[in-house]
Amino acid sequence: MSYPPFFKAAVQKLQEAGIESPQREARLLLAHALQSNADRLMWDMPPCLPDSLGERFNTYLAQRCQQQPLSRILGRREFYGHTFHINEHTLDPRPDSETLIEAIRGAYPDSQQPLTFLDFGTGSGCLVLTLLKCYPAARGIGVDKSHAALKIAQKNASALGVASRVHFICASWDTGLDTPHFPVDVILSNPPYIPLSDAPNLAKGVRAYDPPLALYGGADGLACYRALMAIFGKFPGRPPIFLEVGYDQAPAVIELGKAHGYHNAGIHKDLQGHHRVVALT
Ligand code: GLN
Repeated sequence: MSYPPFFKAAVQKLQEAGIESPQREARLLLAHALQSNADRLMWDMPPCLPDSLGERFNTYLAQRCQQQPLSRILGRREFYGHTFHINEHTLDPRPDSETLIEAIRGAYPDSQQPLTFLDFGTGSGCLVLTLLKCYPAARGIGVDKSHAALKIAQKNASALGVASRVHFICASWDTGLDTPHFPVDVILSNPPYIPLSDAPNLAKGVRAYDPPLALYGGADGLACYRALMAIFGKFPGRPPIFLEVGYDQAPAVIELGKAHGYHNAGIHKDLQGHHRVVALT
């Protein structure tokens, strides 16, 4: 099919800005401007845009050409086959984090189990909510210190139809959950783990658009694991822990676990072969 000139020009702009799939992204941005479905635009592309929509489309194009991540412009991201709303208060869910879901599903193959999951630093809620989709009889608790992030998590819970099975708590890990009295079967977390000194080396799309609160784990990147280990042991029955880690952090996190009484450790690799998840019991 032949595309209208305004669309061809948009594709070229994206291409010149080094965007890898310019045609696909131009279509998604146009669909976003038209509040329409990107697939429909395949056969139903308007010949030209009225001024107001053209302006909106051009704004999105300019944002993308400045390397703003597509998901940030669209306000949503696919994770494990589900669509999650995101905004400036939440980390943009990464495919690497799907390793955490796979690790837990591998450890608990019976999807009908009425498990209770506790997710520290839930952000958009992508982890705990995906688990509730995988385990229809499960319940989840998502903890985050950002009230603004939890609003998005709650919106995602409703959109995914699992709001009645999840409870969000706005709390700081080290203070808010001192004496947990609720039973939990599995604890998980994808805490901020980037060493502060790595900030200048991050891609602009990460450094400028993911919230710092969700990225940095102190000077060596391990600060959150230390804080978390100190509270894990307080949960009755010492539930198994699944942690996402930076590509070179697994040994340090396993050592921390040992120091806190978790003597068995498993490692799960992401699709690139990096050690991405540490499972502790
Ligand atoms: N749990 C959320 C995610 O994995 C947020 C994690 C974070 O903010 N570090 O995307």
